[in-house]
Amino acid sequence: MNPENKTLVFRTNHLHQYGEIRPARLRCTPGIPLEILDAAGAADIVLPAAMHVTLARVDTHVHFRESYIPRREEFESDLYRPADQSYEALVDTARAANAKYGFEQGSLAALKGGVWLIGAMGNTAWAPLGEERWRRIDEYYQQRALIATHVWPRMEPGVAPIAGQEEKDFGSTFGGSGISGGQRRQMYLDRRGGMVSYHNDRAREDESIHDFQRRIQPPDYLLHHLYYDGETVLAAQRETFTYAREAELKRLLTRHIPTGAALDMILSARLDSPVELPAEVGLDYLYFNRDMLAERATREINYRRPALPSKEDQTSLIALTKECARRRDPLTFIGSDHAPHPLAAKRLRPDGMPGSPGTRVLELSHQVHMHLLHQHGFTHHDLDWLTAIAPARYVAQYKSFPFPAGEMETGAMANLVIFDPDEPFSVKEDTLREELRDVEYHSAYRDEKLRGRVYYTVVNGLVFDVAGPVRPLNGAGSPIKKLELD
Ligand SMILES: [Zn+2]
Repeated sequence: MNPENKTLVFRTNHLHQYGEIRPARLRCTPGIPLEILDAAGAADIVLPAAMHVTLARVDTHVHFRESYIPRREEFESDLYRPADQSYEALVDTARAANAKYGFEQGSLAALKGGVWLIGAMGNTAWAPLGEERWRRIDEYYQQRALIATHVWPRMEPGVAPIAGQEEKDFGSTFGGSGISGGQRRQMYLDRRGGMVSYHNDRAREDESIHDFQRRIQPPDYLLHHLYYDGETVLAAQRETFTYAREAELKRLLTRHIPTGAALDMILSARLDSPVELPAEVGLDYLYFNRDMLAERATREINYRRPALPSKEDQTSLIALTKECARRRDPLTFIGSDHAPHPLAAKRLRPDGMPGSPGTRVLELSHQVHMHLLHQHGFTHHDLDWLTAIAPARYVAQYKSFPFPAGEMETGAMANLVIFDPDEPFSVKEDTLREELRDVEYHSAYRDEKLRGRVYYTVVNGLVFDVAGPVRPLNGAGSPIKKLELD
């Protein structure tokens, strides 16, 4: 064991374990499995009566935006590099992106949000295409992040599938890679029996956003939400299900589900589909709906893709998500689609068109979970299931961890979140800008009255105090990398 590493014992009145909440002590040591002890006995940190301890959260969908920069030889011998790009141009693009946001900011946001494991998206300058590149990038992320990471390989036309991995199809993304329906279909056929996730929104087939704007004349802030409505999501899902069935995929994950109807389509299709159909419900949609925007000053920076649901579509999404949690559905969980764009990219453009969709939300994951607890009747165990247990088991299909993940047991991996579920919370943008080392930090949640606060996040036994500036208490460096070095 690294000599800097120490054991810290917490005592709590509220340990979440298999739906029970009880007093206990927990021993945390970097790189060593969790130990759960009787409540009586010595502890280094006696938690205040109100605080809870549960499994740290997993977020299957974040954009850390950091690009791996290949060596020149690596670049030149790469199978998939575009012929018209020079090495220098790639390095410039990647460095410019990395200077704005990367693992450092992303890791801090995850720790603030009580998250120990993230699934990172590969829409980066040097994307995770093909097995060799993907493996290098996946390792690069893990060596530098303060939390556990899994990079989702990117699916592109002509790129060979990676056995045993789930690839992300960016082809359906509005404004994305611009590939045709025929190319998408072929990518699916090329992966018979494979595993894929995809983007479930797209432009309307019969009308451009400009024509829609002329016809409907909505207020500027509503244009995006009305044009990319629930119907565009259902159309994208229907089309992708067809490709997946035809290619006899093993698994198709639908990401950022924004409405009850979109989730219901998946749950109904599961009844007679040979393709396994997991569902990632979007975190923001469980808090914001488009009807709330009228009275929000933040509305001009609050775009998502898919767009925010109507109040009614949100109500049904929340009800169905809760039902899935209640029956401990292993295939339904929550993902944030954390999208750290600069503020300037978010604002309405001079022509009234919406800016880049996506919000910073990872660091507020806990407060949105507590919103579901306080406002919508979710139990602690419902939330543990949707945000810690089901998604940890899901990602563990693609990545191995040193000890069992998503289990609250002696001998399991020590990934914990320690929090007060009730404490009033408001977003202070200036403070978070510093604490997250994120110069562009801004938040669509800055005027919201939130509740809940994370005090400690534990990753593989390394305890981080996250109430203010994030700092490790019983070791140093990356808790995951350290494990490999020991
Ligand atoms: Zn995304």
